[in-house]
Amino acid sequence: MKNNSKLKTVVIIFMIIVFLILAGVEIFFRHMDSSPLTIIGGADGPTKIFLGKDKKDLSKEEQENTKQEIKEKEEKWQALISEAKDKGLLILVNKDNPVDENYKPDDLTAVKYYAEDRTQASRYMRKEAAEQFNKLSEAAKQDGYEIVMTTAYRSYGFQKILYDNYVQREGQEAADKFSAKPGYSEHQSGLAVDVTSPSVNYSLSYEYGDTAEGKWLKENAHNFGYIIRYKKGKEDITGYNYEPWHIRYVGETVADEIYEKDITLEEFLEEEQ
Ligand SMILES: [Zn+2]
Repeated sequence: MKNNSKLKTVVIIFMIIVFLILAGVEIFFRHMDSSPLTIIGGADGPTKIFLGKDKKDLSKEEQENTKQEIKEKEEKWQALISEAKDKGLLILVNKDNPVDENYKPDDLTAVKYYAEDRTQASRYMRKEAAEQFNKLSEAAKQDGYEIVMTTAYRSYGFQKILYDNYVQREGQEAADKFSAKPGYSEHQSGLAVDVTSPSVNYSLSYEYGDTAEGKWLKENAHNFGYIIRYKKGKEDITGYNYEPWHIRYVGETVADEIYEKDITLEEFLEEEQ
């Protein structure tokens, strides 16, 4: 009788030990399985999602659904970026990346809203950019602001005249800080536009960023696919002084991403490579 109860005790202790070992192994593997930080992409761009703790609470089916959703979002994002690239909306023109001297967009379309005293020849943009600029200008007007263009498309030849004039007036070093050499101007892409408003007398002014119109532009341009191309504090990356008036069309998906992350087109393209 005594031996029997001893045996029972030993068996119970043994079973408890086995149970604890199995539970330990289970916890270990669960932990290995759930990487704490998973980076996913989405329509609004790559988003960091913390899955570590919650993942354990999800059923297998739910986990599969989450994986599927992440995959779908990633694919949707990639498709949108490819589409923008195919349309040529992500073309990079800067001091290291010129456009061909003969490049001229074949879908140049007149922009509706412009400052009266500027040359008519530069009131054109690529079709989608022009249409979206018109919408931007109309939305600004609804909010009580007048935002119009001064110059959009510039041919290689016109940029050459401008640049040569600046060099003659201010010397090459100064000219290079605010003017592009011919072939290196984003305006030749038909996707860039300089804008202005009554509060700066329709001029291109650094103060524009502090005006109500300039602030509206900064906060709303991305909704129409535009970015402030040359930001304050990003001069080393863009190669240009801050220009609150120069906006560039990249399409809404990319513009949203660049706005949300407060980055430049250069940084965006670097990340996407
Ligand atoms: Zn410009």
